[in-house]
Order: sequence, then C-alpha cells, then structure tokens
Amino acid sequence: MFCGKMKALTFSYDDGVTQDAHLIEIFNKYGLKATFNLNSGFLGGKGTLVRDGVTVHHNKVSKEDVRHVYVGHEIAAHTLTHPFLPNMTDEREIIRQVEEDRLALSELAGYEVVGFAYPGGGINHSKRVADIIRQSTGVKYCRTTDSSHHFEPQTDLFEFQPTVYHHVEMDEMFRLGERFLAMKADRPQIFYIWGHAYEFDIRNEWGRFEDFCKMMAGADDVFYGTNAQILLADKNEH
Ligand SMILES: [Zn+2]
Repeated sequence: MFCGKMKALTFSYDDGVTQDAHLIEIFNKYGLKATFNLNSGFLGGKGTLVRDGVTVHHNKVSKEDVRHVYVGHEIAAHTLTHPFLPNMTDEREIIRQVEEDRLALSELAGYEVVGFAYPGGGINHSKRVADIIRQSTGVKYCRTTDSSHHFEPQTDLFEFQPTVYHHVEMDEMFRLGERFLAMKADRPQIFYIWGHAYEFDIRNEWGRFEDFCKMMAGADDVFYGTNAQILLADKNEH
C-alpha cells in the first residue's frame, strides 16, 4: 500500500542533464514525482551527444544548482563517473564509485541519498555487483534498465526492473498507462518509467510526453511518489 492506495506511479531520469529542469516543470504542473540519478563526478560538465543522427546537448547540472533544481523530487546515485560495473574486477572500486557518489550527493541534496541506478545500457548489472552494493554501501534500492512491461511488485530491490523506457517504447508506455489507469488493483501495483531527459530533444517528444503526464495525473486511486517513497514504502511505514 502506498499512503492507503494500491497503485503507484513513479519516474526515474538519469545522468543529471540540464534538460531535467524542464522535465521537472512538467512533472510539477501535473503533480507527478520523480527520482533523478546523478554522477557527482561529472556535475557542471558540458558536452553533446549524437543519437539517431541528431546532436543534442548533454550538459550537466552544476553542483551549486543540484539542491534547487531537484527540490520536491528525489536525488539518487548513478556512480561518480559512469563506469560499466559488471566489468570491474576490483570490488573496492565498485564500492568507491557507488558509495562516494551517494555521500557526495547526500551533501549536495541536504538529506541522505539511498537510491541508485546502474549506469550504462544493456546488462549493466550482475548478481555479484548487486551483492557488493547491498552489503557494502548505504544504497537501499538499485534500478536496472531491463523493462518488465508489468506492474507487479518485485522482491529484489537491488536488481529492480522498471516497467518501461519512455524513449524507444513510448507507444508501449501509453498502452501501459491506459491499462494502469483502468485497472482495479487488489494488491500493490507499481508503474515505473525511466529514461534520460535529453532524449526528448532527439525527436522533439516533449509535447507527447506532457500529454502522457496529463493523462496519468490526478487519479484518485494512484499514489504519485518518488522511487524511494514507493519502493521503500514497506520500510517507511514501520
Ligand atoms: Zn547514465
């Protein structure tokens, strides 16, 4: 249960790009809540990315701006410098990448950061890495990039699967959204969407995503919360 409701909606956005500020304006307009996974070693960096033949800005929010840009939403860790963790043989380096990022972000956020998203695409996690994070850091949940396409609660919070990726799966996201809104739930159900805010620039999908937010907003039987509020709901309520 999420504040007395069976259904919960949450969003997760990676890399701490400056486009996050516009995304937050949209979330705030519709009363939606999200979690933002940042690389503290890259804050303030400038750059571009080429995706699908289109060059988009890939500038990072500055250290000074972190606290106010993300106010009202959750800040979570994403490693210091975005390495591919399953390939790292040195356990201490995995711990340093995750825990030092978490502590640096806690300092910038002004509260204890407890969430984490695995950096990189593909199979960016492994049982070994998940166990190291579970045992040797203060992280309480880790999100993968493996879409589940369902809303069922998951038992392993250290290899948590999002429901859908907004970017290449936007049509599927709308279909799942309609199903989620129409569904009568007799047990907890979580709709979890992830992506990167710069991806809305590639095909100018900001308007379409705002349509989705508008469609999902204001349902009486849905709790709108950050990842931690929803994934750690059992722990929070004790
Ligand atoms: Zn990333």
